[in-house]
Amino acid sequence: MTARVVFIGAGPGAADLITVRGARRLALAEAVLFDALTDPALRDLAPAARWLDVGKRGFAHATGQAAINALLVQTAQACQATVVRLKGGDPSVFGRLEEELAALDAAGIAHEVVPGVTAALAAAADAQRPLTRRAHGRSVSLTTAMTHLGALHASRSADTEVFYMAGRQLAELSQRLQQAGWPADTPALVLSRAGWPDALASSLTVATLADADARHAGQPAVVTVGAGATALASVAADVTPLKTFADIRPSPGSAGPPT
Ligand code: SAH
Repeated sequence: MTARVVFIGAGPGAADLITVRGARRLALAEAVLFDALTDPALRDLAPAARWLDVGKRGFAHATGQAAINALLVQTAQACQATVVRLKGGDPSVFGRLEEELAALDAAGIAHEVVPGVTAALAAAADAQRPLTRRAHGRSVSLTTAMTHLGALHASRSADTEVFYMAGRQLAELSQRLQQAGWPADTPALVLSRAGWPDALASSLTVATLADADARHAGQPAVVTVGAGATALASVAADVTPLKTFADIRPSPGSAGPPT
C-alpha cells in the first residue's frame, strides 16, 4: 500500500503558527520530511513519526531538489497511510511545490496541500505594518530577489513589494530597487526571524537598506518596500532609522523604551 502525501505549511517560526488543520494532519504522519527552517518543537505534534531532515543545508547538497523528490516518492511507497512534507511558511510560496507535486503525480501518489502563514504576512504582523493601506496600498507582490540562476533581481510591480531571499545582499538590493524606479526615500522594512520571539525589524528607506546588513546577518529575512513598509501615523513620530523590534513592541517583562 502507498501512503498519501500531505504538504503542510508550518508557518515561518514558532510552532504555534501552524494551522489547526496542519497540526491534525501532522499528528497522523508515519514519516515527516522537513526543511531546515521549521521549529523543532513541531516534533511534539508527531512524536511517533520518523522525522527526515531534507533541508537543503543538511541533505543532498549536490543533488538538491531531485533527491528530495525521489525520497518523497520512496517514503510514500514504503508507508501505509500518511506521509507529511512539512515546509516553512506556506508550501505554495517559493517552496518548490510544483516539482514535488509533479514527482508524486508521475508515481501515481495522492496528495493534499494544507496552507500556512507565509513570511511576508508574519513580518507584517510582527511589525504591525499592514501590507495593504486604504487609498495608496492597493496591491501586494511577493517577489524573490534571486533568479533561478542566482542573480539578484528587483522590480516595482505593486504598491507594496515583499522580497524573499534578499537578506544577504541588501546593498545590491538597494541599488537594484532604485534602478527599478523606486524613489530613494521610499520606506523599506527589513524583518528577520518573523514569527519567532526574537524577530528583529529595521525601518529604513530604499537608499539606506544596507545599514541593516550587520543586524540581520545570517537570519532569514524579508524586505518589504513601499506602502506596506510605511510606519503608521500613530507610531511615525518617533521612528528613527534602524528602529528595532524591541523598540516597537517591548517584550513582556521588559521595562520598554523610556517615555
Ligand atoms: N515558503 C516560505 C518561503 C521559503 S523561501 C514562506 O512561505 O515563507 C525562504 C525565504 O523565506 C528566506 O530567504 C526568507 O526571505 C523568507 N523567510 C523564511 N522564514 C522567514 C522568517 N521566519 N522571517 C523572515 N523571512 C523568512
